[in-house]
Amino acid sequence: MNKQTKEKKKAIIFGAGPAGLTAAYELFQKSDVKPIIYEMSDDTGGISKTVNYKGNRIDIGGHRFFSKSKIVMDWWLKILPIQNENNGNTSSKFMLIRQRLSRIFYLRKFFNYPISLNLNTLKNLGVIRIIKIGYSYLLIKIFPLKNEKSLEDFFINRFGKELYITFFKDYTEKVWGIPCENIKAEWGAQRIKGLSVSKTISHAIKNIFFKNRSIDQKNTETSLIEQYLYPKFGPGQLWEEVANQILEKGGEIHKNQKIVGVNLIENKIKNIIVENQLSGEKQEINGDYFISSMPVKDLVSSIKNPIPEDVRKVSNGLIYRDFITVGLLLKKMKIKNNTKIQTKNNLIPDTWIYIQERDVKIGRLQVFNNWSPFMVKNPEQVWIGLEYFCNEGDELWSKPDKDFLNFAIYEMCKIDMIEKKDVLDGIVIRMPKTYPAYFGSYDNFDTISNFTDTIENLFLVGRNGMHRYNNMDHSMLTAMTAVENIINNIKTKNNIWSVNTEKEYHESK
Ligand SMILES: Cc1cc2nc3c(=O)[nH]c(=O)nc-3n(C[C@H](O)[C@H](O)[C@H](O)COP(=O)(O)OP(=O)(O)OC[C@H]3O[C@@H](n4cnc5c(N)ncnc54)[C@H](O)[C@@H]3O)c2cc1C
Repeated sequence: MNKQTKEKKKAIIFGAGPAGLTAAYELFQKSDVKPIIYEMSDDTGGISKTVNYKGNRIDIGGHRFFSKSKIVMDWWLKILPIQNENNGNTSSKFMLIRQRLSRIFYLRKFFNYPISLNLNTLKNLGVIRIIKIGYSYLLIKIFPLKNEKSLEDFFINRFGKELYITFFKDYTEKVWGIPCENIKAEWGAQRIKGLSVSKTISHAIKNIFFKNRSIDQKNTETSLIEQYLYPKFGPGQLWEEVANQILEKGGEIHKNQKIVGVNLIENKIKNIIVENQLSGEKQEINGDYFISSMPVKDLVSSIKNPIPEDVRKVSNGLIYRDFITVGLLLKKMKIKNNTKIQTKNNLIPDTWIYIQERDVKIGRLQVFNNWSPFMVKNPEQVWIGLEYFCNEGDELWSKPDKDFLNFAIYEMCKIDMIEKKDVLDGIVIRMPKTYPAYFGSYDNFDTISNFTDTIENLFLVGRNGMHRYNNMDHSMLTAMTAVENIINNIKTKNNIWSVNTEKEYHESK
């Protein structure tokens, strides 16, 4: 058979999120393997999609486009260049460069995030709390906990008990739904390694002596502002554009098709079974390579062949945290923005706010007007996203939409952020498996990866695909590495697993 008539090899990709779409795009760029994606939802973009609700756009949690990888930054900018009237890019396909301001809302007051030592913090906390914080910090520095077992121990050893209770305990427990004492200390080591009281104090001292003698609210805020890229219409715009380019090149994206079965033959995938989510019809799909970004727990349970019992057991024990976001359209906000930044409609200048208050369940608040003014249909209105962390099937998850909306409005009124009369409209969006948890059976995750690595033509990529806290960039890099392995016939999967093992990556900030 000559090269012309030889049938192209096929890569079957599970999921059309950032990892799956990157894999398909890269296969087109670098090989003649044909990518075919099966996606169970009727959307592309996965957790990184943007929902368009009557012309107002909302993310599943605001998504910053920020990476230390030049490859990823260049890739994003190739898809959507930076907005610049002078470079001839007059289309609506562009990235904005955004300035971030995010704060913590606690005791009905705003604190800088990350928490910094300044007059505002001291004033908000009050003398008694400050003394308690200082005392408990000194105490733990003199008598540190020798055996740091839990995340609680991790926090207390670094910040002292009072500071831990004030700023870390409640928010972390809102996110994960379990007490910090039940979360492993390693989680802290991975996520918040760079943050410490000594760094915060030295940063504050530097600010006092070398930057500005009078600690000035305006300057403090400037020091916390970071830049990041953000597509004009939210992250979903970039992923829709990638999906369109894949289709234009001849790739296939089959939506509403869920992978429900995997058949192995010896150490390879023979075929998979996909189920049409609209008709219930099932079909067998053959391929040469299989790239999976679907949750690894679901993948393992889809395998029809007998597999080692401990692999099934560890897989069944993997835990996820799920997510509900409520979009609220408002005439205005009630709370004063508490900065010198001038805004309309009492719009707070933050991109997002951590809600540390104990008397409400809301965890974070996104202000989409500040992510991109194009996210909001009418610039005179305020478009916010309220974020709730929950478990699929629990009380929050199961609340009917209308009740949830009322509950979310009630909470926002309770913390004096909005007034009920100013609410114009709202939407409730549920997203399962947003956070792969580093507890449950995660400690034995090697049992799963050692097994899946032996399946020659299977490549696990992405966030839930690898059960790893990967952001978009790392999810993409795992997909890019899998494609390199396919092209170069590299047998090991270790290079995929080694993406995002540089622990301090995001959290050093
Ligand atoms: C609140 C929040 C905020 C975030 N903020 C940022 C940020 O600021 N910057 C950043 O870079 N990252 C951020 N992330 C992370 C980012 O969302 C993920 O890294 C990224 O979406 C992971 O891409 P993925 O393709 O691996 O997985 P996903 O996005 O989860 O996509 C997987 C796809 O597989 C599909 N699927 C699942 N099971 C099946 C099946 N059985 N059959 C077929 N299809 C299936 C799903 O429907 C989905 O479309 C955030 C995440 C959350 C939850």
